[in-house]
Amino acid sequence: MTLSTQHQKHLVLLGAGNAHIHVLSTLASHALPDIKITLITPYPRQLYSGMVPGFVAGHYTLDDCVIPLEPLLKKTTVQWLPRRVTALNANQCTLTLDDGSEVSYDWLSVNTGPVQERKRLEQTLPGVCEYGLFVRPLEGFGALWPRVTELAQNTALRVVVLGGGAAGIELAMAMAYRLPTATVTLVTGGAAVGANYTPAVQQRIVKALVRRNITVLVDTAVSIQKEEVLLASGTRLACDVPVIATSAQAPAWLEDTSLTLNEAGILSAALRLAVDEHGFIAVDACQRSTSHPNVFAAGDVSTRMDLPLARSGVYAVRAGPALTKNLTAVIAGQEPSPHMPPEKTLNLLSCANQTAIASWGNYSAQGRWVWWLKDWIDRSFIKRYRRI
Ligand SMILES: Cc1cc2nc3c(=O)[nH]c(=O)nc-3n(C[C@H](O)[C@H](O)[C@H](O)COP(=O)(O)OP(=O)(O)OC[C@H]3O[C@@H](n4cnc5c(N)ncnc54)[C@H](O)[C@@H]3O)c2cc1C
Repeated sequence: MTLSTQHQKHLVLLGAGNAHIHVLSTLASHALPDIKITLITPYPRQLYSGMVPGFVAGHYTLDDCVIPLEPLLKKTTVQWLPRRVTALNANQCTLTLDDGSEVSYDWLSVNTGPVQERKRLEQTLPGVCEYGLFVRPLEGFGALWPRVTELAQNTALRVVVLGGGAAGIELAMAMAYRLPTATVTLVTGGAAVGANYTPAVQQRIVKALVRRNITVLVDTAVSIQKEEVLLASGTRLACDVPVIATSAQAPAWLEDTSLTLNEAGILSAALRLAVDEHGFIAVDACQRSTSHPNVFAAGDVSTRMDLPLARSGVYAVRAGPALTKNLTAVIAGQEPSPHMPPEKTLNLLSCANQTAIASWGNYSAQGRWVWWLKDWIDRSFIKRYRRI
């Protein structure tokens, strides 16, 4: 009789993004037997981005905006590795972590979110690494923001927010509200402010910005120096706090093509996952990598290749249940099933003074009740995963 040790299959959850928070909460009540599960993420909590503008405005403490991982993990057999991934070899099913260690997996689920790659940004915006206040990672921003409010107690700060998308708009209004003596300028990056919204919503946004005395410049920052932001038009903006809310990018570790020696001693490039033209993981309707069927990805790190661009970025809060179902299926040896995000989603933009703008398809609305709705949805999201 020969004794054989059965290899215990390993699922790695990379990042504690919103979809993985849902996966963990399900594992807390429905364990997956006979497999090892590891969560790799650097922080012991997940800071919920939707509430960050409210934190900046002073409506929430940072603690109000976080889902601690420990109580969730305690109810599961999931092991937490407090590390970051730095490289992936999708061919060999291995991840390299920031301490140089390697982790191998049978199934990988990626929910690491978008990033602001400092080195890449520095090439187009020199000075950004030295002077910029980066919005991502949110944990870094959350730790630095109180220092800005302290500075504002003695100085009338000149704040320049770079980025005319939802995050830049919400943060500019939150900063103008929280720092009444500051001057706030929003530099859109060349596009109209809130370019992804309908014209009616754009009008609402512009009016709300004007009401808060925020100067909007349809221009692009080309360099940052001490106390100054230089724009493509040649305008020089005096600036104490350049806030970097420019669009986020795919993480550099997805680009890794480093050369490695394979088992046969042949030098080969680490095979990377299929990505879209911007470097985000290309996934199918089942949120499965189009190149590696044992890899799933959800949230902003991925792009649904079966959907038009506008619908491909499934917000990770909604992707959680479908991802959980599909991971459970493949682990049980079944086929995953397609997930169709709704055609229209409710979008809520906080205007800081406890009012907000709502948009749903071509409809839009604004006011205090919209803020109450947003506040209720956001707090309920946090509460739901804290209670488990
Ligand atoms: C100020 C602000 C406000 C926003 N408000 C809204 C809103 O109201 N509604 C909305 O729909 N969207 C909003 N967004 C956009 C929203 O943040 C993203 O769509 C959302 O965070 C994406 O979720 P995610 O789960 O993909 O990633 P994230 O929420 O970013 O989570 C990523 C996770 O991965 C971990 N991680 C990161 N890098 C690594 C690594 N190398 N290795 C291991 N782990 C890693 C992180 O620590 C984190 O746990 C806002 C963004 C900002 C900046």
